[in-house]
Amino acid sequence: MTDHPTGAGALHVADPWTRPGWYTETLHGGAAQGFPVSEVRFRDHTDLQDLVIFETPVFGKVMALDGVIQTTTADEHVYHEMMAHVPLLAHGAAADVLIVGGGDGGMLRRVLMHPGVKRCTMVEIDRAVVDLSLAQLPEISAGAFEDPRTDLVIADGCRYVAETDRRFDVIIIDSTDPIGPGAVLFTETFYADCKRCLKPGGVFVNQASVPFLQGEELAMIVRNLRPSFADVTAYVGAVPTYYGGLMTFGWASDDPSLRTVPAETIAARYRAAGLATDYYTPALHAAAFALPAFIDRIVHAG
Ligand code: SAM
Repeated sequence: MTDHPTGAGALHVADPWTRPGWYTETLHGGAAQGFPVSEVRFRDHTDLQDLVIFETPVFGKVMALDGVIQTTTADEHVYHEMMAHVPLLAHGAAADVLIVGGGDGGMLRRVLMHPGVKRCTMVEIDRAVVDLSLAQLPEISAGAFEDPRTDLVIADGCRYVAETDRRFDVIIIDSTDPIGPGAVLFTETFYADCKRCLKPGGVFVNQASVPFLQGEELAMIVRNLRPSFADVTAYVGAVPTYYGGLMTFGWASDDPSLRTVPAETIAARYRAAGLATDYYTPALHAAAFALPAFIDRIVHAG
């Protein structure tokens, strides 16, 4: 078992292969989820992470990094649609977008569905995740890496935002959990650098855990965002493979009205962009900011 001290408590990831024929994720101390494995398509260490891609009967192809499920072909749309379309349609005129992480390309694909986006820069630390996703999970990126608006940078996202002179309308942190190379993407310093890289009226979102099991992680994210942004909250979505109930997406901007854009305005923007979605709807967009009481308490504590 590996312990990963994060400042949000310790995440405990045990060997996922101990039960024959199954992949078992034990990210959280008190719960686990298992997948029967029909076929292991790839299993190796990249320079940075342990990467595995396997087939399952229900979730299709599954990618895991360091023992933690990242994405599956069956439910990737939930996470990617909610993290791309909510900030982009709330902003309404995003032309320059930054994704940090997101090696599978699913976020890139959803961002590029917006015709107003002129350039999407994706800063991914591990080229092997991009290469393996292109080879084994091409349906997730669906050609997005070939789009002329794509600007792929292989680098540490933390370092990139600390050093770049570029400015963005929307920043999306599609990261791993605060384990290994992803840990730096949950710090106050990183969030301050993201703020510096946002244009006025810009929006920041990040993957912010499943709070029923990772309440301390959400609390840490909110605590570290607050010094840099006037308006910090979260919105929710239900991703089947991120078990433990609703997951949260962190939301930060300096303009509180961006998260209360009327549903009719969002619907008009959705139609104008010509979007087709399987989870996201404009009505769900508005509803996603209504938080269950226990999540609201975490977000608004202190
Ligand atoms: N949806 C996923 C989840 O929450 O489980 C995230 C998927 S995406 C594959 C996460 C990506 O973040 C990985 O490809 C990983 O290599 C990348 N990553 C981790 N740390 C990073 C860093 N410091 N800079 C840029 N990318 C990073």
